[in-house]
Amino acid sequence: MILVVGGAGYIGSHLVKELVEKEEVVVLDNLSTGHREAVDNRAIFVKGDLGNVDDLLMVFRSYPIKAVMHFAANSLVGESVINPLKYYENNVAATIMLLKVMKRFKVKNFIFSSTAATYGIPHVDMIDETTPTAPINPYGRSKLMVEQILADFSKAHGLNYVVLRYFNAAGAHKSAVIGESHDPETHLIPIILQHLLGQREKVSVFGSDYDTEDGTCIRDYIHVTDLASAHILALKALLKGKKTAEIYNLGNGLGYSVKEVIETCEKVTGLKANVEMTDRRPGDPARLIASSQKIYDELGWKAERNLEQIITDAWKWHQRVSGTM
Ligand code: UDP
Repeated sequence: MILVVGGAGYIGSHLVKELVEKEEVVVLDNLSTGHREAVDNRAIFVKGDLGNVDDLLMVFRSYPIKAVMHFAANSLVGESVINPLKYYENNVAATIMLLKVMKRFKVKNFIFSSTAATYGIPHVDMIDETTPTAPINPYGRSKLMVEQILADFSKAHGLNYVVLRYFNAAGAHKSAVIGESHDPETHLIPIILQHLLGQREKVSVFGSDYDTEDGTCIRDYIHVTDLASAHILALKALLKGKKTAEIYNLGNGLGYSVKEVIETCEKVTGLKANVEMTDRRPGDPARLIASSQKIYDELGWKAERNLEQIITDAWKWHQRVSGTM
């Protein structure tokens, strides 16, 4: 049985939908940001807290867990600057608790959701796993701290783990049953689509004077279903004993500017956005593009879905939840 902590959240719930086809799954989630209805009903659901040792003991006693996939984290950069202790407590301290319980129950396989925010403002065009990490906010630091803890813990206690550093996760399940639902929403693609559905007056572009071709920030958008398939491959490699301590980037290898994302949304939906240029958002690097060559070479993974597919699937989901489809 596979334990998915944070399996009711955006990326976790998409992973669970794929994983239940292959494995028995138990989800542990406190529903602080996740949604109960997003968890596939073939998975067992336990409402509980990663930071609460009794909740963890109950799960590990009740189910024969052979691997843990850890998606449960707070992930808003701005909030992490205002409330850093929340990030160190929920992202770092709670993970230590989880590792202690895994050690006690001799569970040896672990997959950890990390982030491109561990790289900070890199000085290279394509970021690979050898690019130095230098996070510039508490969120990125909290994820890097866990990566470092995992390396030490693995050496001392023999944990096999894979860290996956996501770039810009986006899109929705092709069935339109689950998608990206944050409150408040801060991410570019959902904001544009909500605007095109009439739920927001306009789209603000945060900065048009960056050192990029059209002056707006460039990001590497990766379909959430492609992220899910990378987790499945990583899990397979761990369970076969092929990996002991690895870090992989997960991106498309292609960058799109904010303007290009807006144009693609207009193309997919056939609607015109009301766009205003505003000041830069603090802490935004101009360009973040992943090299995912390492995971392609070692596990055979590559992103299958491009930006248009990401937006097409996201649009279907947004239309469904707003009742226009
Ligand atoms: N962005 C924007 N307007 C918005 C939201 C985001 O211009 O309303 C920009 C943001 O500055 C960044 C890119 O879109 O350059 C992606 O931002 P998002 O918050 O989706 O992801 P992040 O890159 O911060 O993880």
